[in-house]
Amino acid sequence: MKIFIMTDLDGASCVAGTWDDINPGGKEHGRARRFLTGDVNAAIQGAFEANANEVVVLDGHGAAFSILPEELDSRALLI
Ligand SMILES: [Zn+2]
Repeated sequence: MKIFIMTDLDGASCVAGTWDDINPGGKEHGRARRFLTGDVNAAIQGAFEANANEVVVLDGHGAAFSILPEELDSRALLI
């Protein structure tokens, strides 16, 4: 089973969608990126626990640099 996950920074856990958290340079942007990456890691873990054999993640917010690649579950492919 192959799983495709498309993400958006807006709406991640604890991310209200204000300019401070969704725009680079915003005072909460770094924290928002960590929350998003945590959410995505939880989804990846669940997918593998449900016997997925491949997980592909698309960072769908803005210019696609919201997920922290160094903190993303290394079993997934980030595109
Ligand atoms: Zn977005």
